[in-house]
Amino acid sequence: MKPYDYIIVGSGLFGSVFAHEATKAGKKCLVLEKREHIGGNIYTEEIEGIQVHKYGAHIFHTNNKKVWNYVNSFVEFNHYKNSPIANYKGKLFNLPFNMNTFYQLWGNEADTPTKALAKINEQRKAYAHITHPRNLEEQALALAGKDIYEKLIKGYTEKQWGRPATQIPAFIIRRLPFRFTFDNNYFNDKYQGIPIGGYTKLIELMLNDIPVITSTDYLKNKEHWDSLANKIIYTGKIDDFFNCHFGNLDYRSLRFEHEILNLDNYQGNAVVNYTDAATTFTRIIEHKHFEFGTQPKTIITKEYPQEKSDENEAYYPINDAKNQEIYEKYKQLASQQQHVIFGGRLAEYKYYDMHHVIENALNVAKKELMETKDEK
Ligand SMILES: Cc1cc2nc3c(=O)[nH]c(=O)nc-3n(C[C@H](O)[C@H](O)[C@H](O)COP(=O)(O)OP(=O)(O)OC[C@H]3O[C@@H](n4cnc5c(N)ncnc54)[C@H](O)[C@@H]3O)c2cc1C
Repeated sequence: MKPYDYIIVGSGLFGSVFAHEATKAGKKCLVLEKREHIGGNIYTEEIEGIQVHKYGAHIFHTNNKKVWNYVNSFVEFNHYKNSPIANYKGKLFNLPFNMNTFYQLWGNEADTPTKALAKINEQRKAYAHITHPRNLEEQALALAGKDIYEKLIKGYTEKQWGRPATQIPAFIIRRLPFRFTFDNNYFNDKYQGIPIGGYTKLIELMLNDIPVITSTDYLKNKEHWDSLANKIIYTGKIDDFFNCHFGNLDYRSLRFEHEILNLDNYQGNAVVNYTDAATTFTRIIEHKHFEFGTQPKTIITKEYPQEKSDENEAYYPINDAKNQEIYEKYKQLASQQQHVIFGGRLAEYKYYDMHHVIENALNVAKKELMETKDEK
């Protein structure tokens, strides 16, 4: 008999939720983690009393009451709501696009919802001939017109993707939601917040009493680990699992530059996007504002988008036709692996928000644990 029912590869949200549910159902689990810490990309580290989001800012939001209750059963969440600011060449705008933004862009020409809509329609009219946008630039101009595109979309998106907007596929922006109210709350979801004490605490509590081995790459000793468990829950990169048999899947990566500053408030907001092309980073995150912090110092992080290489992390899947075709081949192979369940953003090659990952992991665990209920 094998010592474990499940070996869970990866201690991010997917792996941790699965491990928690399986353990609760009486299964024996072992979690393996390649990095030296648990939590995957939601990992936060306390520095100067501030929870620093080490792999990019994470704001929890969901409409799913079950998921919200689930996370709150581990830690309490605060009432933080994301209201990013855009800085375009020193001028500040509220995001997402709402009445504040329109007023900042056009003043009295857009100080009522009717006037703002008329102004946007006038801006869009110049691009009415674009009925089949061939790239992101054409798509954004057709949806928003010149002012919004040039000041708030173009530079930021080009930095994110590392190429001109005319070479970025149009499907990246399918629609641009405009809000004709003075409401800067980025997400529309009913439940929003940040776990008090950080995301790492959330994961620690999910993995409470479950053995975890960090700094260990499952793929480097796969046969050994496979011999120890009936089933593997794999949350790493799907192309790596199959030795990149059909080639690498592409990702965009990010480089983070963290700074501790000897002042208590640097930018007055957690998230400021730099939407011009000349500033090489895309955003500055000031972590303490996620928790309404009053510490004497502050920590900021500049985010620089970059190409994915062997040295840097895979962040955003590039779900274009070429990569999607490769992924489908891996998915086909994965479906033949009876003893492996593939889950999470890397194994499914899909951008998921945290609430989606939790919902998926709960569903996968429920199905799996029902099927194996009576197995000893
Ligand atoms: C910059 C950025 C910002 C984001 N902001 C938000 C936000 O504001 N709100 C939101 O809801 N979502 C946000 N997300 C999405 C969120 O990060 C994901 O939904 C979530 O982290 C995915 O969890 P996961 O378990 O699928 O993957 P991960 O967190 O990546 O966990 C996978 C784990 O597996 C480990 N692993 C991989 N291969 C191996 C191996 N061979 N052996 C052992 N371990 C391995 C990895 O080290 C990692 O710890 C953001 C994502 C990014 C990139």
